[in-house]
Parts: sequence; structure tokens; C-alpha cells
Amino acid sequence: MRPPLRFTSVPSAPSSRTSSSSPALSRRGLLGASAAGLTTAGLAGAGAAQAASPAARRRTRAARTEPGRSGMRLRWLGNNGWEIRIDRPGAKPATVLIDPWLTRFPTGTYTEEGADPQTPLVVHEHVIDRYRLRADQILVTHGHYDHLPDVPHLASTTGATVWGTESHANMLLALAAPHRQGTLRDQLSVVAGGEHVQLDGYSIRVLRSLHSMTGPRSRVPFPGTRPGGPPPRPQTIADLVEGGTLAYAITSDATGFTLVNFGGSNFSAADLDGLAPDLAMIQPGGASVPGYVPRLLSCLDHPPYVVPTHWDDFDEPLDEPAVDWGGLEELRRAVRDAAPETRFVVVDHLESFTP
Ligand SMILES: [Zn+2]
Repeated sequence: MRPPLRFTSVPSAPSSRTSSSSPALSRRGLLGASAAGLTTAGLAGAGAAQAASPAARRRTRAARTEPGRSGMRLRWLGNNGWEIRIDRPGAKPATVLIDPWLTRFPTGTYTEEGADPQTPLVVHEHVIDRYRLRADQILVTHGHYDHLPDVPHLASTTGATVWGTESHANMLLALAAPHRQGTLRDQLSVVAGGEHVQLDGYSIRVLRSLHSMTGPRSRVPFPGTRPGGPPPRPQTIADLVEGGTLAYAITSDATGFTLVNFGGSNFSAADLDGLAPDLAMIQPGGASVPGYVPRLLSCLDHPPYVVPTHWDDFDEPLDEPAVDWGGLEELRRAVRDAAPETRFVVVDHLESFTP
């Protein structure tokens, strides 16, 4: 059977390594950033930004996106995995994980042959534990094997609230060890898109979104939902279906800075209305979407920062520099053409960026 996930580009060779563990700016990120669009004005609150007219909103956005003023730190965990640390005055920073997937078993997804649907699904808890992640929230964008399978273990080790659709929740329960299912069930927050949730020092907006469509028939790979209760325990990568796709926007109360993450290279334009984030984490690809990058950036009101995500070949190790599966430069060009003032900041594996 022809595998559904298939890309034709050949991965490029890895570049030399920059710092791997310090919470500093990625050197590659700085080199990849444009100096345009910087301002020196002060910060603005979240409420003011949301209530203002589009022009005023743009001015306050330019003010709070002066480098280093976001109150957030982004660390890339590979694929669409991100650790977002949010500073909170007078309290410990909050940590939000998005699609944390650290096991990274080989699937051949980015080879000419593509991924074999019968590839056994594995979760290596000892690999996940090596990264000592903490989390208050874990956000799941969709159910596929490169996004969801490590979440039950991380829910167990962090105690975080886990956000996802009913299908994601059911697949997470099916993956969890039987003695952990009750605790996991208590941690799940089933969302549909459209929610805007206030938390301690930050808020999360859940956005209905869409998955990439690939191949000659423009299909969502491993499509489907799992409503009504946990399915049988997933055995292969094909058993983890999309289950709906969400995007998430996170806003710091202290600075008003808003980032948005897309778990697939597609989007629902109507659901982005009025968002105008400061930073967008977007993916290469989107070949099936007319005007993917310019239209997405237009819907987002041309954010000051774009940070590419999901651009590494995940058959390659997380502890070494990311290997581009072939879409990064095309994305960089598309962003430059559509939004010349936007800073395109590339963060390498396990490196951090403080906007
Ligand atoms: Zn997917």
C-alpha cells in the first residue's frame, strides 16, 4: 500500500551545532531574523490590544514585540513539539507544552517511499524522561503518531492538564497503561475550538483548524475520528488517526504578547478573525492550499515574528541539529515575499528563543 505521508524533497545536510541547552537566543535564529520592523516603544496590556481598532492594535503590537519583551521563552522539542515558558510577575513561570513528541522512532516519513502504515507505535519513557520536562498545560493539535503518543506519559510525570478533541482524548486513554487511565481521565480537558480560557497569568485560545492534505488526491493522512470512548490500544502508526485539528494561541497577561501554533500546514481562515498574533509558528508545505503562506499571514495581520515548526526530518536524532526535510527555504522565501517586515526566526533542536 502506498504510504499516505510522502514528500519529494531530499533533506539537506545538517549545519554545525550551536548551543544546545542554554535558554539563550538561537544563533541561527538571529542570523535568520530580519532587523526590519523594530520599534522602541513600551509595552501594552492584553486587554487594550484586543479592544483597539486594527491600526491601534498594530501600533501596540509593534511596541510589545521589541526583542526580549514578550515575557515568553520558546524551546523547540523537534517536529511540532514546543515548550513555552511564560513569565508571571510574583510567581513561578508557567510552562505549556505543545505536541511534545520526543521518542522519534523511525518511520521513513520523509523518504521517497514514505512512512509504512504498519510501523509499530512505540513510546520510550526513558527517552522522554531524559528531557525532564515540566508542564502546567499540554496542548494537542491532532492525533497523529508524530504529535500524540508521548502525551500520556508526560501527563503522568507532569500532572498537567491535557487539551484536545474528544477523539484525541479517547486515543490518549487507549494509549495509557490501564492503571493510569483514571488519573489521565481527570487531567483531560476536551475542547472543540472556539474556547478562550483564562489561566493564572496567561490565556489560551483554542482555534478550529485543518490538517495538511497530501498526495495526488489531496487527502488528510490517517483520517478519521474516535468518538464515544477509547478505541482498542493503538498498535501501529495508522491506528492514531487525525481526530480533528486544532491550533492554539497563548497570550501573556503581563505583556499582551500572543503566539499562535499550527500543527498542520493548513488553516481555517474564519477562525483566525481578530487574532492578530505577535508570533506565528507555521509549517512548510501547504501545497494543496491556494496561497498558503500569503493568505495565512494576511489572516494573521502579518505578525512581527514567524518561527517555522515541523520542518525537521524526525528519523534523525533530536540531540543533534535539525535536518531540514526540504521545506524550510521555500517557507522562508514565501514569508519574505508576503511579509517583508516579519522576522523569520529559525530555532534549532532544543534551542530557545525569547521574542
Ligand atoms: Zn499530522
